[in-house]
Amino acid sequence: MNLVALPAFTDNYIWMLHDGRRAVVVDPGDASPVERALDALRLGLRGILVTHHHADHVGGLDALRARLEGPVWAPARESIPGPVVAVSEGDTIDVLGHGFRVLEVPGHTAGHVAYLQVGPMDDPLLFCGDTLFSAGCGRLFEGTPAQMAASLARLAALPRGTRVCCTHEYTLGNLRFAAAVEPGNPAIGDHAESCRRLRAADRPTLPSTIGLERMINPFLRCTQPDVVAAAAGRGAAAHDPVAVFAALREWKNRF
Ligand code: ZN
Ligand code: FE
Repeated sequence: MNLVALPAFTDNYIWMLHDGRRAVVVDPGDASPVERALDALRLGLRGILVTHHHADHVGGLDALRARLEGPVWAPARESIPGPVVAVSEGDTIDVLGHGFRVLEVPGHTAGHVAYLQVGPMDDPLLFCGDTLFSAGCGRLFEGTPAQMAASLARLAALPRGTRVCCTHEYTLGNLRFAAAVEPGNPAIGDHAESCRRLRAADRPTLPSTIGLERMINPFLRCTQPDVVAAAAGRGAAAHDPVAVFAALREWKNRF
């Protein structure tokens, strides 16, 4: 199974899985990069996964339906241009013969879902939309800090080899913020260096891994003493991980 990140707009990725013949895509905000890839690789489009309702994730659905032979899986709690197969927590779907489990991860939007590959592999794929970014997380448009902190904690607890397929190339900007939160964390600078090389070569910094995110992502490190201290300096109650998370998110919004 091949995994490809199709760049869209200025900083989106539309993830494509294909086996050389059939393809599925995740969050096609724009149809044209998908159509070009399908044509270039001579692939049939057999399914579309949607994580949440924002236009940069669903804008290409209507145009792609003209060549889609398969379902559009989309979160039951959100309004997505239909027809869709509505999915919710615990559902397992078949994607080109691979099982993916639906995780509800509210926070960025109220009904946001992620798709986690199931099976015995130690590097399952995770399509997490705008919930978890490398070294960052999505803004809280509809959910509360408590919801988002709980959603991120669920993702952080996945196997360390889990391949994190986020929908935006925000990594370098997020790492600048991470370094401001934790100036004493050498993993952040090391990773920024390798990401700068990737970006200079016009390559994605993704997928990341859960193991790496646990080391560099301040939003997954809300109980680490340096992160707690940095958040406390911004008024957060140090004993409360949700307050630490909320203070970080507020700080990042204005960073
Ligand atoms: Zn979004
Ligand atoms: Fe987005």
